[in-house]
Amino acid sequence: MKIDEVASTTKKARVATHTHIKGLGLNEKGAAVAQAAGWVGQESAREASGVVVDMIKEKKMAGRALLFTGAPGTGKTALALGIAQELGTKVPFCPMVGSEVYSHEVKKTEVLMENFRRAIGLRIKENKEVYEGEIVEMTPEETESTSGGYGKVITSVVVGLKTVKGTKQLKLDPSIYDAMQKEKVKLGDVIYLEANSGSVKRVGRCDAYASEFDLEAEEYVPLPKGDVHKRKEIVQDVTLHDLDAANARPQGGSDIISMMSQIMKPKKTEITEKLRREINNVVNRYIDSGIAELVPGVLFIDEVHMLDQECFTFLNKALESQLAPIVIFATNRGVCPVKGSDGMVAPHGIPVDLLDRLLIVRTIPYTSEENVRILAVRADVEEIEMDEASLARLGEVGDETTLRHAAQLMTPAAVIAQQSGREEISIADLEECQRLFFDPKKSAKLLQEQADKFITY
Ligand code: ATP
Repeated sequence: MKIDEVASTTKKARVATHTHIKGLGLNEKGAAVAQAAGWVGQESAREASGVVVDMIKEKKMAGRALLFTGAPGTGKTALALGIAQELGTKVPFCPMVGSEVYSHEVKKTEVLMENFRRAIGLRIKENKEVYEGEIVEMTPEETESTSGGYGKVITSVVVGLKTVKGTKQLKLDPSIYDAMQKEKVKLGDVIYLEANSGSVKRVGRCDAYASEFDLEAEEYVPLPKGDVHKRKEIVQDVTLHDLDAANARPQGGSDIISMMSQIMKPKKTEITEKLRREINNVVNRYIDSGIAELVPGVLFIDEVHMLDQECFTFLNKALESQLAPIVIFATNRGVCPVKGSDGMVAPHGIPVDLLDRLLIVRTIPYTSEENVRILAVRADVEEIEMDEASLARLGEVGDETTLRHAAQLMTPAAVIAQQSGREEISIADLEECQRLFFDPKKSAKLLQEQADKFITY
């Protein structure tokens, strides 16, 4: 079984601007702590998100979706990330932007479908016999109780031991894990250990090690089957899209494992509807027989107003499917036309039939004081030094423009300070920054004033 070779295709979130967000910052009763987990204020929206996390955990979100609405920069994306963090890394989180669906090469609904499947996880469980001396994938707790607390999770490997008297239960030196990784030891590989007084000195693949030391493999005796001392559950997490991609190859078997092992082969073919149906069938069989468990993750669609009528129709239907993730939409638009709809106008640019099934959470604009505190958190994360006066000034910039623009000025201001031989940003650096860089409002005003000097079509 080569599940460990499947490289997940989970999209890497561009989260640099949200690195300070570490969850939702709620206490055990679900109430928002005023400043916690990188958050400042926005208490109601964080608490509502906490309720959603509980609903997801209790599997009560099926067929529903969430909509964050609020002015730009009020933390909608940050909330979605907070939810993902609260759900933990085992639950898939797939972020996308509405405009992503408009590609010349791929159909809009195909882009949506692919992201849907990136957000649906599958936990595959396999019972495996474990032998004494065998190294298996372990949780840190298990590792602690069985091998003295080395705590590193490695792949499942059957280890054959050189016969060393009295050394059946090896105490593994942490270096073995590194050595095994270096050797690219795979599940099922037999590797040979030179053991002395219970500690491992060397590790090598069967062939490489035997030839290096001019030894016959027979000199190494795998432990007899009779030494089985427990059965262990091995768990692998993949997404439906991982399985689609793994099977979108010229040939291969139809079971999950062979689909997975094909992922390393080059030459990719298209993922078709038929292929997805077949994969769904296999997945359903695995779920029915208890080998696999469905883990609905989160699909986050930012700027949902960028989607058009065709996408909304698709989403409405897809949300009803058995294999649906939890979908979170976000928009900063008020009442506006629904794209591709012959001028239909709707709240947030979303057709009412879809709006109807959404739980809506509002984010509220920040006070100056909150702006300053959020900027202080960002300065801390980015290791930027600012005195209090310039932080307050930057807060004012945030009030006049947007919080995001104010945060964006920090790094150039730090560069300007450095150019003057200072570590700490001063008000003069911020003023210089504002002279050099325009905020969107100022730029739009200039456009109006000088409309005749610009080229227009
Ligand atoms: P848009 O509508 O423009 O997409 P948004 O509502 O998604 O905006 P975010 O991108 O989440 O806004 O927030 C802008 C920046 O401010 C991010 O760096 C975010 O992490 C930070 N931020 C927003 N609200 C808070 C808050 N309450 N506490 C801490 N950081 C925050």
